[in-house]
Amino acid sequence: MALVKCKDCDKEVSTEAKTCPHCGAPMPKEGMGWFATSVMIVGGLVAAFLIFGAMQPETPRSVARERCDKIKRLAYTAAEKRAAEDVCAELMRDADRKWASSTE
Ligand SMILES: [Zn+2]
Repeated sequence: MALVKCKDCDKEVSTEAKTCPHCGAPMPKEGMGWFATSVMIVGGLVAAFLIFGAMQPETPRSVARERCDKIKRLAYTAAEKRAAEDVCAELMRDADRKWASSTE
């Protein structure tokens, strides 16, 4: 049994009390705890999914694509975008060469 401070009178109240015994103010419902638990479970699943995704083996192509995306995000002007496309194409060719030599 834990104690929390009543938001109205600032006195200590049991977390199990539905209302404050000092001033009668309603205490946060247990339903909120259940909601918080569900949010935590969903959050945990999302985190697990992200970790699982991050654990996928990296290939030279996936690394190149990641770099490519970063470069493209940084490009603002048309000229920068064209340059980014060129760099990306080069990164991909390079990745394919690396991939070919590593699987030989
Ligand atoms: Zn109170």
